Amino acid sequence: EDEIISIGDVVRFQAQEQPEQVVFTFQGDEMTYARLDAGSNQAAQALASKGVGKGDRIAYMGKNSHLYFEIMVGAAKLGAVMVPVNWRLAPPEVAYILNDCQAKLLFIGPGFVDLVRKIEKDLDHVELILGSEQPEGEFAGYPAWRDGFDAVDPMVQCAEDDDALQLYTSGTTGHPKGAIMTSGSIFSSRSSETKEEDLMDWQKPIPGEITLLAMPCFHISGTGTGLTVMFAGGSAIVLPEYDPTQALELIEQYNISKIFMVPAAIQILLNHPRASEVDFSDLKYITYGASPIPLELMKRAMDVLGCGFVQMYGMTETSGTIVTLNPEDHDPKGNEKMRSVGTPLPGVEIKIIDPESKETLPPRTIGEIATRSAKNMKGYWNRPEATAETLDKEGWLHTGDAGYLDEDDYLYIQDRLKDMIISGGENVYPAEVENAIYANPKVADVAVIGVPDEKWGEAVKACVVVKEGQEVTEADVIADARERIAGYKCPKSVDFIEALPRNPSGKILRKDLRAPYWEGKDRAVN
Ligand code: ATP
Ligand code: MG
Repeated sequence: EDEIISIGDVVRFQAQEQPEQVVFTFQGDEMTYARLDAGSNQAAQALASKGVGKGDRIAYMGKNSHLYFEIMVGAAKLGAVMVPVNWRLAPPEVAYILNDCQAKLLFIGPGFVDLVRKIEKDLDHVELILGSEQPEGEFAGYPAWRDGFDAVDPMVQCAEDDDALQLYTSGTTGHPKGAIMTSGSIFSSRSSETKEEDLMDWQKPIPGEITLLAMPCFHISGTGTGLTVMFAGGSAIVLPEYDPTQALELIEQYNISKIFMVPAAIQILLNHPRASEVDFSDLKYITYGASPIPLELMKRAMDVLGCGFVQMYGMTETSGTIVTLNPEDHDPKGNEKMRSVGTPLPGVEIKIIDPESKETLPPRTIGEIATRSAKNMKGYWNRPEATAETLDKEGWLHTGDAGYLDEDDYLYIQDRLKDMIISGGENVYPAEVENAIYANPKVADVAVIGVPDEKWGEAVKACVVVKEGQEVTEADVIADARERIAGYKCPKSVDFIEALPRNPSGKILRKDLRAPYWEGKDRAVN
């Protein structure tokens, strides 16, 4: 009976075990497990009164808040599915996601009422927009909306393979896709059967530990952090959005022990004028991932923050992390393992396959990364073809990432397959070319793309942001790169630009850089 299967079970369990323990602190407001349990019961009753039931989607458009988790748990207690929407998207993109997931209700966080008004007429399924009549600045009618309802748990039974959450991919390579996570995929790696001695040091609970939830909940990194904290019965300080000044203050004020950050967020933190004054001695681990981290940045982070670092590789489709590079492999001198994303978590299989023949490739041969574990998503919402292309019959998920394994099962990410450039029959991985150009001290930032070329099919082009006060020519960039990489990998041309287009996780949007060159032309992989 006490088995923990769903998000609802986790909160029921913690509310019984440690009702007075604070789970989320948001802008000074402390929410205990008992309060989360009661509030989510009220939310569940209120949702049910609007006709929301098992399998229905509800959406949340707002910055991080402890109330986001309350609504999510309330939905879970009914077997309904929360869809957090990326609030950084433009109005038509938000409308696209709300229509795609067929959300029955939309919860609007402070500051987003105007945006939703703009798209209201384009929404097909949303029956009700809660709190659209509420003034800006308030939590758009919530929690008042659920206040009158009894805090009675609806006790809807959930199975392991029921849909539990739906998060959209970041849209780095195309339209965001709704990845369906089940209770099984969310909690398999957090199994209650895992004995503490089997956990890696950084996974073991630290007495009194407090996590800083600094990444957005519309991304698996943010929601995943919240789920990890609830499962462990831990406590998190929730930031509405990432802000280095606030992050530094909270690290000191709450003696934060763990934070997940994307590399771009680590960089912003280190560049903050106060970074050198802050006492980081309680910080035990920084986990990071979602995009590659430059070695220079890693070295600085290890030097300034002085804690353990864990790199994570994963994706929305794998409910988050599947491969980790553990603290002992972090060597500031930059040994080979340091260029990897580490080894698979227990229960996770990784293999490298030929993207065409689908055959397994030997170590140190680049191919497509495929993975199999209980963490894999159920599929993409309403996209049978994309699901069939991604999940094969044996349960392997084809990630679309290119990489290789070494003899010790360390995984090295090369690039996105869609970004790979085929020039004169040779495969060129932009990341390798970017690293070669990034090593040029006059270069601040760089992205490498394939552009159409009559002779080569595709030609390598570098889009370079020059460091302030420096001057560099196209010929300089090319000649400098040639010192480090083979001729066929070197850019044939260079565009000098002001800044690279990036998404909120700091990922370079190469598709946007490519677009003007491919207008009206077909790219082999797009
Ligand atoms: P879309 O699938 O819509 O194009 P996306 O792949 O960026 O967007 P996410 O699921 O947020 O959406 O990101 C997962 C991807 O991020 C992985 O497939 C991989 O390419 C990249 N990634 C994740 N972790 C790392 C890491 N540690 N190092 C390098 N790249 C990483
Ligand atoms: Mg992806």
